[in-house]
Amino acid sequence: MNTNEFFMKKAIACSCDNIKNDGGPFGAVIVKDGVIIAEGSNRVTANNDPTAHAEVVAIRNAAKYLNNFNLSGCEIYTSCEPCPMCLSAIYWARIDKIYYANTKIDAKNIGFDDSFIYDEIALPIPERKIPIIQMMRNEAIQAFNLWEDKADKTEY
Ligand SMILES: [Zn+2]
Repeated sequence: MNTNEFFMKKAIACSCDNIKNDGGPFGAVIVKDGVIIAEGSNRVTANNDPTAHAEVVAIRNAAKYLNNFNLSGCEIYTSCEPCPMCLSAIYWARIDKIYYANTKIDAKNIGFDDSFIYDEIALPIPERKIPIIQMMRNEAIQAFNLWEDKADKTEY
């Protein structure tokens, strides 16, 4: 077994163990310099947290462990192809590489339909399921102006 397989086996073990622990069938690990620094499993229903997907939980744990919001130099192994939320979180975290096992179609087949969100993103805003209404830009822009003028900000 090569090291990639070792790490993916761990992510898959997280996904299987999680089912016995009131969670969904998803697991992930984050690796840095050849070592697992964080694990995550789906805790959406267990914690009543719709954002507690395995990858997001693993990212939160890795960032806490490294005491850094920037996870560049890390790789994520996830038992299933990331949904759009997790994919976005992975990009925001600056993770270098993604390995996945099950596909989003496999997930759809057991009732976890992330593929419809991928479809939604591709649609023009007026055609999406959830209405998106822009308002009060002139007031909201103040925060952006304050940010622009702030000398000691932490950019990311
Ligand atoms: Zn997700």
